[in-house]
Amino acid sequence: MSEKLILKQATNFAIEKRKQIIPELSGKEEKTSKLIFDTLKELGYKPYFLENTYNVLCKVDVSKEKTLAIRADIDALPFGDKVIHACGHDFHTATLLGLAYIFSKEDFRKLLKTNLLFIFQSSEEVRKFSGAEAVVKAGILEKENVEAIFGFHVYPELPVGKIGVRSGPMMAGSDVFEFIIKGQASHASRPHLSNETISALAQLITKLNIIPSRKINPLYPALISIGIVQAGTAENVIPDRAYLRGTVRYYSKEVRNSIFENMKKAAKSVDEFFGTNTIFNIIQGNEPVINDKSLVDLLKKVVIKYLGVEAFEYLEYPSMGSEDFSEYLKVVKKGCYFRVGVGGKYPLHNPLFKATDNAIYYALTSLYGVAINYE
Ligand SMILES: [Zn+2]
Ligand SMILES: [Zn+2]
Repeated sequence: MSEKLILKQATNFAIEKRKQIIPELSGKEEKTSKLIFDTLKELGYKPYFLENTYNVLCKVDVSKEKTLAIRADIDALPFGDKVIHACGHDFHTATLLGLAYIFSKEDFRKLLKTNLLFIFQSSEEVRKFSGAEAVVKAGILEKENVEAIFGFHVYPELPVGKIGVRSGPMMAGSDVFEFIIKGQASHASRPHLSNETISALAQLITKLNIIPSRKINPLYPALISIGIVQAGTAENVIPDRAYLRGTVRYYSKEVRNSIFENMKKAAKSVDEFFGTNTIFNIIQGNEPVINDKSLVDLLKKVVIKYLGVEAFEYLEYPSMGSEDFSEYLKVVKKGCYFRVGVGGKYPLHNPLFKATDNAIYYALTSLYGVAINYE
């Protein structure tokens, strides 16, 4: 069978499977993981669940020393009562099943120069239950001697037919921070008897906003966004507490450390002035995703070979979004996370977003090319 024909067949297989996927929330992908498990079994594989999770793993064992891993995330997002694949993870899941379809055939399995490990990963959207972290902690990647890993994501800002990637920083590191400012409450007419937690909060916000532009080397991206501010319950009471919560984004450890050092200093100076007592917490998130140049070069080569030179898009800038794909990069030497153009008018995480089936062929062909050419 020709490559063209199997890729077409596998695309149709993926599209059919995708129709059967029922969107489920992060860490609750019971039906989705069962569908994945059953499909892989029907294809003749020996898939398995990672204990106490809905992560499904499946090895294409061709008795080689090294293994190449490919990851697809499987969870959906909540919108009120509805659960919707507004991040396109059903597309990812179906595409990886399509790839499994190809390598279930001996004719194509014999082209592999390494073993493959398919990772159908639960809970990408909720950092707290990160499926990637669970896979890494279980030690499977070391056990299987995984030398490189690919991940991919649908991207509406690129048209169908395009594959986008870049070397080096691809996705940002991200953490959540919070400040709880405590002080004495008082009547609004006697502010001098209070610690003015609200003014302290306002000053803190000003200081935080200065950090990226004045305290970090301007050549290195750093972002601080405040998403929650809470204080007060009555117009004539200066409250005893003010609260602030937000997220930071960066591409290096040095920038991360500098952001948090400066945040601590900002809280200290506010406390000194107002006599408040500020608690500062960091809720650790994802590390940056840094793409390996040799894998990016390989992807570029196969995209141009199979899909044509116009299909490849070198991305000038990384994203300020974050991904738990970075978890894998803590233990796997080389990683590459790329974008699959799906076009459309709605952005990711919009309830009306739907990644078109038309782009599956391009994602699948890229992964196939990478799988048979990696050595
Ligand atoms: Zn998402
Ligand atoms: Zn996503």
